[in-house]
Amino acid sequence: MIKCISCGAEYSLEEIIYTCKECGSILEVLIQPNVSKDIFECRKSTMWKYKEFMPVNESKIISIQEGGTPFIKCNRLGDDLGVKLYVKVEGSNPTGSFKDRGMSVGITKACELGVDTVGCASTGNTSASLAAYAARAGLKCIVLLPSGKVALGKLAQAMFHGAEVLSVNGNFDEALEAVTALALEGRLYLLNSINPFRLEGQKSIGFEIVDDLGWRSPDRIILPVGNAGNISAIWKGIREFHQASFIEDLPRMTGIQAVGACPITNAFRKGAQEIVPVENPETVATAIRIGAPVSALKALRAIYESDGYSETVTDEEILDAQKLLARSEGIGVEPASASSIAGLRKLVDSGEIDRGEEIVCIVTGHLLKDPNTAINACKEPISIEADVESLKKILDDL
Ligand SMILES: *Cc1c(COP(=O)(O)O)cnc(C)c1O
Ligand SMILES: [Zn+2]
Repeated sequence: MIKCISCGAEYSLEEIIYTCKECGSILEVLIQPNVSKDIFECRKSTMWKYKEFMPVNESKIISIQEGGTPFIKCNRLGDDLGVKLYVKVEGSNPTGSFKDRGMSVGITKACELGVDTVGCASTGNTSASLAAYAARAGLKCIVLLPSGKVALGKLAQAMFHGAEVLSVNGNFDEALEAVTALALEGRLYLLNSINPFRLEGQKSIGFEIVDDLGWRSPDRIILPVGNAGNISAIWKGIREFHQASFIEDLPRMTGIQAVGACPITNAFRKGAQEIVPVENPETVATAIRIGAPVSALKALRAIYESDGYSETVTDEEILDAQKLLARSEGIGVEPASASSIAGLRKLVDSGEIDRGEEIVCIVTGHLLKDPNTAINACKEPISIEADVESLKKILDDL
């Protein structure tokens, strides 16, 4: 069943609906299968390992093997910060971001519903993922991107997988408003994270973390927050496994935002349940350059219910953390993803995070998504003649 998170109104899983008809609030899918965790043993490591928890027809699944991403113990960085650190590398998904998990379920649902056109507004990764999964399913696809603000890798993916790519003269929030209006007229099936089936796929990040840890929770999960779907989804997944008695404890959900786009952190600091949208959001981390997050209500609930936290980081802190992770652990992520590491550093410094805490940072997208930012952060290659003597000089100075 689909249920309104504010007034509790209920809708059928077969209904195409994005917001509550009674009160206008956002919706969630409810599913609580009665299974033992033993059924997961011996299954291949993709997000469909947990298919009983996915509200779609197993025979229709559209997949490119999303999920089952690396869960890396980071001793060097963890020891430096005085915590036990794991990094969940979502850049290893088929199109290079966690959005693939949500898109696999969302596109499967689109096929079940028999729609022929799907669409989204996007800061980049949603469009890259939707374009690929629509291609896999044979659906028509239209994506709206804020002009000039989409990282190069993401734009290349959306175009190359054959989506109709529209460059919108406006920011993400405005593009989303436009495409949502089209969806409400029934012209396309909307696959932004206001679509509750997207979050059903993304909750598998929570499943994998507790499975990877041997059926227990870390002390804390830290991740970047933009449209606020992912933090809501991961908390939903963790709660479902808790309710099924697969785990006993719960992690504190810790959402990091950029200083120039931080409506969730602002609300958290006031203890508020609702956000005040940020006009003209700005940050180098374009994937979280969002002023009016659609899933704010769910995200704030996740933070409060889990005794979690929210903090902001500057663009400089984000870019520093991006480089730190790349150079101390060999893990290359795009700027938005590095805000989880930047947030960890800041919260250790402020004393909010205790020494020795077991932390999982989710790094949401791959370094190559945004090659321009990566290149701009480095010095130019040294140009030399192709002779041994010049090479030796450089090696001596290394
Ligand atoms: C979408 C995205 C985010 C933000 O996730 P939300 O669910 O919108 O909060 C963060 N990082 C990357 C790389 C993303 O693609
Ligand atoms: Zn309602």
